Amino acid sequence: MYVKGVGPALAAKLVKLGIRTVGDLLFTLPKRHEDRTKFTAIRELNSGEVATIRGRIIGVENVKTRGKLTLTKAYIDDGNGTATLTFFNQPFLRETFKKLKKDVVLHGLPLEGRFGLEFQNPEWEELDDEKDSLAAGRIVPVYGLTEGLTQRRLRTIVHEAVMKYARLAEETLPGSVAKRVGFRPIRWCIQQAHFPDSESSQVAARRRFVFEEFFYLQFMLAMRRAENDRQLGIGFAIPSGFVDEAATMMPFELTRAQRRVIEEIYSDMRADKPMNRLLQGDVGSGKTAVAASALLAAAKSGYQCALMAPTEILAEQHFKVISSLLTPAGVTIELLLGRMTAQQKNETRARIQAGDVQVAIGTHALIQETVEFKNLGLVIIDEQHRFGVLQRAALIQKGIQADVLVMTATPIPRTLTMTLYGDLQLSVIDEMPPGRRPVITHWKRPGERPNVYNGVRALHEKGRQAYVICPLVMESEKLQAKAAEKMYKQLQQDILPDLQIGLLHGQMRSDEKDEVMYKFREGKLDVLVATTVVEVGVDVPNAGVIVIEDAQRFGLSQLHQLRGRVGRAEHQAYCVLVADAPDQKGAERMEILTKTNDGFLIAEEDLRLRGPGEIYGTKQAGLPDFRFGDLIEDKKVMEEARKQAQHFLETATPQELDAAMVQLKKVRTAWGLAEVA
Ligand code: ADP
Ligand code: MG
Repeated sequence: MYVKGVGPALAAKLVKLGIRTVGDLLFTLPKRHEDRTKFTAIRELNSGEVATIRGRIIGVENVKTRGKLTLTKAYIDDGNGTATLTFFNQPFLRETFKKLKKDVVLHGLPLEGRFGLEFQNPEWEELDDEKDSLAAGRIVPVYGLTEGLTQRRLRTIVHEAVMKYARLAEETLPGSVAKRVGFRPIRWCIQQAHFPDSESSQVAARRRFVFEEFFYLQFMLAMRRAENDRQLGIGFAIPSGFVDEAATMMPFELTRAQRRVIEEIYSDMRADKPMNRLLQGDVGSGKTAVAASALLAAAKSGYQCALMAPTEILAEQHFKVISSLLTPAGVTIELLLGRMTAQQKNETRARIQAGDVQVAIGTHALIQETVEFKNLGLVIIDEQHRFGVLQRAALIQKGIQADVLVMTATPIPRTLTMTLYGDLQLSVIDEMPPGRRPVITHWKRPGERPNVYNGVRALHEKGRQAYVICPLVMESEKLQAKAAEKMYKQLQQDILPDLQIGLLHGQMRSDEKDEVMYKFREGKLDVLVATTVVEVGVDVPNAGVIVIEDAQRFGLSQLHQLRGRVGRAEHQAYCVLVADAPDQKGAERMEILTKTNDGFLIAEEDLRLRGPGEIYGTKQAGLPDFRFGDLIEDKKVMEEARKQAQHFLETATPQELDAAMVQLKKVRTAWGLAEVA
């Protein structure tokens, strides 16, 4: 197939945008549309509201700042007002602007500057109404670009491709589904998604492509659920009312939420298909007691269990807590860690293999390495987000038919659960153990640091310990460790010289880490300077405050997790976020934390403010790289797609299913998810 005007040089640029074929061109939807039948008048612009304006450039100059930056300032006039455009370090723009002969159309965010409204780095293009009918007097598509490719050029070739080839496009959604949802033909949708007749047809057309993408994802998940339901699993013989038996081993009354969730798990375990359940519960909601109840039931039914934690520290902590609960009930528990001697490991492995160990606790090495169980019945994975979905796939690959319970303390918004874990059943602990006082969170500017550490000292005088979390260094663990060491020295030498301070970071040997953690837990250290290695699960009830330095660098959910390290006892606990807020969004993020302790709310906000890719990573979290859809904006479409996919799977003819599988394969390749289970 051939598109007019596309030679080798242009083709190479298109490849950078992922466009290799005419098909790619058709399905590279614009990032937005601009209604160029009406522009906002410059004098009606509002600061902080994105707008599209049209006018003439009436002047341009380059200005050097003291920081050696070159600013290009251009002034645009639409006959009724003027606004300033500022571009950074693109001095050549001065000549470009000087040469313009026609109007420009400009899109961006005007903000109140020193000399009236100012657009920083707006998108713009010259407009030639006579020559370029695609760019004026209609709703105009605006595409993502790459260097050396202009908006006009790309728009022209997409138009060419759409006019010539859209009519050849085949339907890619099952006919019955397209009909039920009420979509127009794909040919119409391609055309309208690029060059729409009206805003509403553009929205409808785009929605069709988003739906298709979500539909195939949900179809894949629905098939996995069905597959899981078909498999034969273990039907544990758990007597009814067993939850009361589990409750008797706890040093506290189970909360109603804990009881409900335990019942949900038991009922899955009793069924003779494999359990595949995700347990969500905010930090401190008491997931360990739930896990222990599941382990007890499995062990008492004669099966072995594996409990896997993301780090050795956590595995050890689980071992301590869980053996204190289960050993009196006559269950044998052992810990298997990478750092144990080869001989110790071999002995433990042998006992696991012989069936002498009922509950084995360790890191993911438990499953990945050569541990053979005699009759493994239940696998519990703590803190799923560190494992990612691949571990689940690994379990299945090892031929493990055991029931699987995944526990996470990172509340995941519903849209994402539907996407990432759509093949899992969901249990939520939505209630905290009684008597907990919510952590009081303050946001302080770096200038207020002396006060912050005076506060730490005051709490110390009341007998409380403190965590100080160091700034996040994403680039490398080594730099992160350096930052921690620096912080540690500063605190020990200058700020709190009379207190006992400890240091914990990821570059330390694990026996060093353990020693520090042990000392802190025993109260031999007053302050623990740490990196995010303490993020998950560590339990030191006497800690009364956590100071998080450079808090703006962390994700909201991560800050909430860190905050969960305190407030684990009756005394009032505090969290202090030391942060600069460079912008509105940054300030909003800090304020959310000072206002709520609700992890789910925080997760939703985090998702809204940062987007899923940044929070969860995309591919490594098993999150498809969606081409059209946006998990937040198109939440409703995802729910519809889920419903339709389930219905389709239940009602489709074998031919329809075959066709859908072929299509799914193509979509998955486009997501880059082909290799993932
Ligand atoms: P998480 O869900 O973060 O793993 P844990 O299981 O570590 O939470 O529980 C947090 C703390 O709350 C622990 O000290 C635990 O003993 C306590 N706890 C758990 N459940 C209850 C309950 N029902 N009543 C009182 N305390 C509880
Ligand atoms: Mg936990």
